[in-house]
Order: sequence, then structure tokens, then C-alpha cells
Amino acid sequence: MECKQFREFAKDMVDYIGDYLENIRDRRVLPTVEPGYLRPLLPEEAPENPDKWQDVMADIEKVIMPGVTHWHSPRFHAYFPTANSYPAIVADMLSSGIACIGFSWIASPACTELEVVMMDWLGKMLELPKEFLASTNGKGGGIIQGTASEATLVALLGAKAKAVLRAKQEHPEWNDVTIISKLVGYASNQAHSSVERAGLLGGVKLRLLPADEKLRLRGDTLQKAIQEDRHNGLIPFYAVATLGTTNACSFDSLDELGPVCNEESVWLHVDAAYAGSAFICPEFRYLMTGIEHADSFNFNPHKWMLVNFDCSAMWLKDPTYVVNAFNVDPLYLKHDQQGVLPDYRHWQIPLGRRFRALKLWFVLRLYGVRNLQAFIRKHVALAHEFEDLVRQDNRFEIFSEVVLGLVCFRLKGSNERNEILLKRINGHGVIHLVPSKIGDTYFLRLAICSRFTESQDIQLSWNEIRTLADDVLAEDQPGK
Ligand SMILES: *Cc1c(COP(=O)(O)O)cnc(C)c1O
Repeated sequence: MECKQFREFAKDMVDYIGDYLENIRDRRVLPTVEPGYLRPLLPEEAPENPDKWQDVMADIEKVIMPGVTHWHSPRFHAYFPTANSYPAIVADMLSSGIACIGFSWIASPACTELEVVMMDWLGKMLELPKEFLASTNGKGGGIIQGTASEATLVALLGAKAKAVLRAKQEHPEWNDVTIISKLVGYASNQAHSSVERAGLLGGVKLRLLPADEKLRLRGDTLQKAIQEDRHNGLIPFYAVATLGTTNACSFDSLDELGPVCNEESVWLHVDAAYAGSAFICPEFRYLMTGIEHADSFNFNPHKWMLVNFDCSAMWLKDPTYVVNAFNVDPLYLKHDQQGVLPDYRHWQIPLGRRFRALKLWFVLRLYGVRNLQAFIRKHVALAHEFEDLVRQDNRFEIFSEVVLGLVCFRLKGSNERNEILLKRINGHGVIHLVPSKIGDTYFLRLAICSRFTESQDIQLSWNEIRTLADDVLAEDQPGK
């Protein structure tokens, strides 16, 4: 098929994407399809001869869009945001065009070198301690992982390698199996499920410790657990502090956990998947007080910094342990310039990696730090606007402090009436929320997600919730 014709297709697609995003408010945020809706819409087999581009385009609206949940609609308030911007989309086109696999420096020097510099730019935007930056002549540096889940696992595996090495020096008679069976890691019971999963994947014990009444993991709780485990012959080796939990956007007491970890030689990983983007604003950096104690730090520009999935920024003060933990070096991957710049294949789980630094570069250049800060501030202000609306209605209560772009709230009274309310909201399909539960309390989460969200969208979302609450409460009268 003609190359020229394909280029015309690409231009059609750019227009389609632009129209889709600009008119996204007009679409029902949640689809109404049933499971299995799609198969009957497609032929049983792949076409023997090529289909027409016009037919493929037409099928986007017929086959795909009815089954899309519109994450970039201002009516979408579920989970946490996922980022989207034209600069990132365009950069991803270029990445797909170059289509290199940047596992080593020589496999595409630009792919590695741009990533090293972008991770420094980004680290400086957050005012990370300079030990994390590659430009400071230490060991530190950053990498773009696919997801925060991978970063948590990579950090755990680095910590594990370090702990095994140390235990062997102290107890030459112990073998790997003995040592690994003694390793124990820690996180809050509010940590993301991927933290517990990293423990399972890494084959080590991971204890989830109780958070306090403000949903923070405290230093003394960790200290006590470590003492207990040492007393029982275990080897504490890894702890995850979460800044901005998924349930309620609470913040572990990093300034207390840090010194405990440093004192106990426990690797401290900081998971700031959502909240980390806010640290580009000086006024939110108090939330990462104690970051200098961390061994590794991670956040997702693909959540809240306008860089499309996947772009999870991870920094390590000393990548040596991670690199050595995964180091296999077959001849076909060796090259003459090894050791000058990172061969990122040693820093991650897969071998292959896309040219992801491009989208970070495009977003940082085409928005500038100032506009990215304004974007974060706007979302936080919109969250507070929604919080005020909830507070003005005495049938509702705010469940936990609103710090960034997430509001946790509920109808006063039983969990059941909140469950009914949520069902009504999502059933109606105008807006989309997901619930959460901490202890025995069920609540609703409203996250500000879309970059298109304006004050009138928040008013609309609140109106929808308020009106549906009228019905739920009317039916919930005693005697009915
Ligand atoms: C979203 C989230 C994650 C998971 O992020 P992925 O990039 O999808 O792996 C981990 N931790 C926290 C606190 C999150 O909010």
C-alpha cells in the first residue's frame, strides 16, 4: 500500500483525536454496554484482503467508542487522573516513528541521554536532594519506568540484593535461601495494592502496619515492628512510605520514617505516584519533608503532569544494587562505551523500552514549568470548590482532609445509603465516581481528573450528586 495514503490516514486521525477531546463533554462518561458486547460487532476472522481506511475510521464510532469510559471527560472523577496532552501525544507519535528499543546506550544514544537529562530537569523541578540527580557526580540518577508498580518492585529487588549481600558478609555460613526467608519489608495498611504485590513477586514477607487516625504511618509504629522482627530473628530490609495514598490521599510521616530506616539500614522507597506532581509547586513541598532520607523516590507524571501513560519517574541515590541485582550481560548486548551512561536495561524488569523521554521533553518545553504549576493549582482549587459545596449541605460530611485534588465525602449515616447513592450516580452515567472504605466507613471519592475541568463542571457534578441524594434520602425515611 502507498506510503502517501497512510500519511493521509494519520492526518485524519489527528483531526479525529482533536474532535474527540474537544467535544468529550457531550459523551456519556460511562458506557452502557454489557460484557461481551464487542465480539458480535466484528467478523470471525482477520480480513484476507485489506479493509478500506474509511471503514476502519467508521468502526471507531461503531465498535470502540460505545465501550470507552471517557477518562478525560470533566465528568470523570474515579480513581486518580491519568494524564493527557497534545504535546505528549505528538511526542509519542515521534517515538513510534523512531521506534527504537533503548535497552543500552548504543541501541540509541539519544534515547538514553535524553532520559538522563529529563530526569534531572524533573528532579530539579521538585527540588529533590541532589544525591538523586545524575548531574551531581555522585552515583544517583533517574529512570522512566512504565508504572509505579514496577518502580516499587525494582526498589524492593534492589533492597533485597543489598540485604542479602550484607547478611552474607555478617554470616558467611548462611545461604541465599536462608537469608531471603528472614527478610521482611514494611508499608502502611493504606499503601497501594502494588506494594503488597511487590512483596509477593519478590518472594519476601511484607508487613502492612496500621496507620494512625489521620491515615499516616508513623515512625514509632515502624520502629516497634522492626524491633519485634529483629527479636524474632528476621531481617528488616525495606519500607515503603506513601505520599498521597490512593484511598484518601493521606501522607505517611516521612520525616519520622526516614531516620528510623536510616538508623536500621532499611531501604526506604517513597511512593508518591499521584501526589508527586504537586511537588513542582513550592507550596506543596512540605508534603515531602524528610525526602533526604529516602533511597528511592517515584511519582507518575502520567497521572497528574500532562504526560500520557506510560511515564513513571523513579530516582535512585545508588542504583548499583538494582543494576547488580538484574545484571546479565550476554555478548550481543555488550558495547564499547559501557559504564559512561546508564544501560537502562539493568534498571528495569523488561529488556525492551520505548523512547519515553520524548514526551516528557515535549511537555516540559511546550507548557513550561509555570503552566504545569498553574495546572496543578487549578485542580487543587477545584477540589476545594467541591469541598465547600459538600460542607454547605449538612446532609453530607467530608471524610478526610482535602490536601490536593481528591475529595473524600459521604452522606451522614449508614454505609448502605452511601452505597445506594453511589450506585445511582454511576447508573445515571452523567458522572463517574468510585468508592473506598477505611475501617468500617464507606465513602465516595471525587478526584479532579480532566485537564478540561472548569468550575461549571464541578457545579454540574455536585448538582448531580445532590439531586440523586434527594431521592436516596426520601426513600430512606423510617417506615418506608
Ligand atoms: C496509582 C497508584 C499506584 C499505581 O500506579 P501505576 O503506575 O499504575 O502502577 C501506586 N501507588 C499509588 C499511591 C497510586 O496512587
